[in-house]
Amino acid sequence: MMPRYCEVALPVPLRSTFTYAVPAAFDNEQLVGRRVVVPFRNRPMIGVALELSSHTPDTVRLKAPIKEIVELMDPVPALPPKLIELGQWISRYYLAPIGEAFRALLPPEIELRHDREYSLTEAGRRYLQELASSDEKTDVESAELDMLRRFGEGTVASSRVDHWPGGDAAAMKLVRLGYLVAREVLRRRKTRTQRIVAWNAANRAPIASAAEEKIREVLMSTRGPLPLGLLIEKTGKSRAVIERLVEGGRLISWEEPLTPGEDPWETDFVPPSNVLNAEQKQALAEIWRWLVAGEFAAGLLHGVTGSGKTEVYLGAIEAALSRGKTAIVLVPEIALTLWVGRLVRARFGAGVAVLHSGLPDIERAREWWRVRHGDAPIVVGTRSAVFAPLENLGLVIVDEEQESAYKQEETPRYNGRDTAVYRARLEGAVVLLGSATPSLETYHNARAGKYHLLELTSRVENRPLAEVRIVDLREEFRREHRAAPVSAALRAAIASRLKERTQAMVLINRRGYSWSLLCRSCGAFVQCENCSIALTYHKSRQRLECHYCGYFSRPPKQCPKCQGEYMYFVGEGAERVEEYLHEQFPIARIARFDRDIVRTKHEYQQVLGAYAKGEIDILVGTQMVAKGHDFQRVTLVGVVSADLALGRPDFRAAERTFQLLTQVAGRAGRGELSGEVLVETYYPEHYAIQLAAQQDYPSFYEKEAHFRRMLHYPPFVALASVLARDRKIENAIRWSRALGDYFMPFEKQGVKILGPAAAPLARLRREYRFQFVLKSPRRSSLGRALNGCFDFCVAKHIPDSAVIVDVDPTSLA
Ligand code: ADP
Ligand code: ZN
Repeated sequence: MMPRYCEVALPVPLRSTFTYAVPAAFDNEQLVGRRVVVPFRNRPMIGVALELSSHTPDTVRLKAPIKEIVELMDPVPALPPKLIELGQWISRYYLAPIGEAFRALLPPEIELRHDREYSLTEAGRRYLQELASSDEKTDVESAELDMLRRFGEGTVASSRVDHWPGGDAAAMKLVRLGYLVAREVLRRRKTRTQRIVAWNAANRAPIASAAEEKIREVLMSTRGPLPLGLLIEKTGKSRAVIERLVEGGRLISWEEPLTPGEDPWETDFVPPSNVLNAEQKQALAEIWRWLVAGEFAAGLLHGVTGSGKTEVYLGAIEAALSRGKTAIVLVPEIALTLWVGRLVRARFGAGVAVLHSGLPDIERAREWWRVRHGDAPIVVGTRSAVFAPLENLGLVIVDEEQESAYKQEETPRYNGRDTAVYRARLEGAVVLLGSATPSLETYHNARAGKYHLLELTSRVENRPLAEVRIVDLREEFRREHRAAPVSAALRAAIASRLKERTQAMVLINRRGYSWSLLCRSCGAFVQCENCSIALTYHKSRQRLECHYCGYFSRPPKQCPKCQGEYMYFVGEGAERVEEYLHEQFPIARIARFDRDIVRTKHEYQQVLGAYAKGEIDILVGTQMVAKGHDFQRVTLVGVVSADLALGRPDFRAAERTFQLLTQVAGRAGRGELSGEVLVETYYPEHYAIQLAAQQDYPSFYEKEAHFRRMLHYPPFVALASVLARDRKIENAIRWSRALGDYFMPFEKQGVKILGPAAAPLARLRREYRFQFVLKSPRRSSLGRALNGCFDFCVAKHIPDSAVIVDVDPTSLA
């Protein structure tokens, strides 16, 4: 008997899949992994089919009749089997609702848009007649009559209603009064598409004609698939000839959404041709061995900054491709996809897809499907690219594996690096984690023999590491009797760079102009209305902003608490540092690089491109500038208030500080000119700062590991944080107490439970938050404690959305 039912994961925060009937029309279709449209709570929704069954579901238990799948979305299943397994693991391991876990794996929904339709109800019709026959009407009633009349008998789309007087809002009011019903509908969006033609590499038949040879040559020299029109133009062959070759299997073709033309960022680029040095060769030879073995292997490539890890990555990709496998390269920042994507494309041609959230949906969908169709065997991207729908995966590279950007801070709360390791295991692939400053977890695994350790101990061509000087801000203040946004020492160093016409980079890890606005009379900071956090002043926008919830307001002239009149801006952010440098160096070319300035791919390219070309003298930036970039003429890196992270009550504060300083120091002296780094701090003795200055990772690891072991933190225990939250503080307290009772018995099973206590961010987006921290030396014990947590919530009527479980949190602050 044919399977008649199907389990569908839907993007809703519920912890189950949903059963739908498969209509006979879809009997011969492959359903598993396919995107489907199904009715859910009276509206159509896109989900993914996970499993088939021929058992009649228990409709009594389900409390509802089974509905049918309405539509199959794509001609092929979006998710290959391994990705379905991966999605299930994400849901299990990170305790994410299954549909939300799968949402992270699916392509953006560009084909459909949600719309609303209105129609008159029976009550609406009666009311309409009543109004029409009454002589005395209020203005409101006349307006209502006017609107109701327009509905006639049929249904009207909200896009039309929008143009009527009162618009959608008036219609929604009539819905609330019961005179209209609103229904959500999905409409197919018309995307303009183009025919794309590619050489069919799988077809090994010899080339049979000059036309074929010509087409092959053009497709190879332009590195890959071309729109049909362009191919006709470049080859001078007719459409009919090309169509015939498509039919014969010599070429393949598909429809793709239209995208803008060539990107000058890519076309003008000449990649460096480096000859690998001995260390690079040795590392690569080792990776080759793992790939040849064709089994899961995990390696840490620990190489100091500027040691040429990227060349090793490129070699590893080449090795994977030569074994007929595919590869993923993950980088932590969108900005890095630009460099790395370009390098990889220069080396491997058009079979490289780039995936990140800075792309418009339509472009991302195009890249995604290109990968799915097997047209791009290499994917470069940020966190979510770990889910790239490649088959036959041979290699996953995670560059700067320690970065917290790999952790998604919303459901599903996965870590891209750990997911990469799991995916490689699932697919029998090699995973290569690269870093100059590995996370404690990864280095610990390497030392314990779980990961192979590959080391690059020196910079390429034996260039020296930049020299790091610590600027003691306490001393500076004693001398100068005032605190300038940039120390005298750093100012002098910048001046000398300007004179010798090399470049400087200034890292200030805070956005905005001032961190906060303080009342001198009562000592209160101006706080966000929704969060327990001081607002940041942004001068260019003339407002105070919350970096957590987006709230903003005009800076008050008086203290909102005590009406005091002496309001005082405290602490310098990137905007202020940039302004100050303009004042100090009026003729220098200065630019800023942070999330306030650059958001789109184009803006990234502009600033980074200009800096790389030497059109900018000083680049001021947040941590976005610290990672991975390879600028050749930077001879000075200044770090303003290096110790910001150290003030945070977080077990990773020292690690973060060490990593950031080592990384940013690594940006200096990468070319032929040697570099210098100035680190400003109030805690010059702190080991994180001292050891970063010496760029001594092994000593830092020893010291930090010692603390972690003593205080029971990762990598020596498995850690999870559980938060109960609600707008009403009573609820948040009640639920966290209940959860406390639930967790208590697990203490006896080796799980240490801290809390409930007010979370470090005690209020966020109007919600009060109470936190538990769970620790256990055994992950399985921790898992047991967490697994029953949501069943407990159901039993106690605690809403699912009120509890956030974060497995392997990157921070507790
Ligand atoms: P890392 O990521 O380890 O900090 P990169 O991979 O960015 O370092 O390489 C640093 C620089 O060294 C790049 O400009 C790269 O082109 C160059 N490079 C890499 N390998 C070699 C080599 N074998 N010889 C000369 N230059 C190299
Ligand atoms: Zn806020």
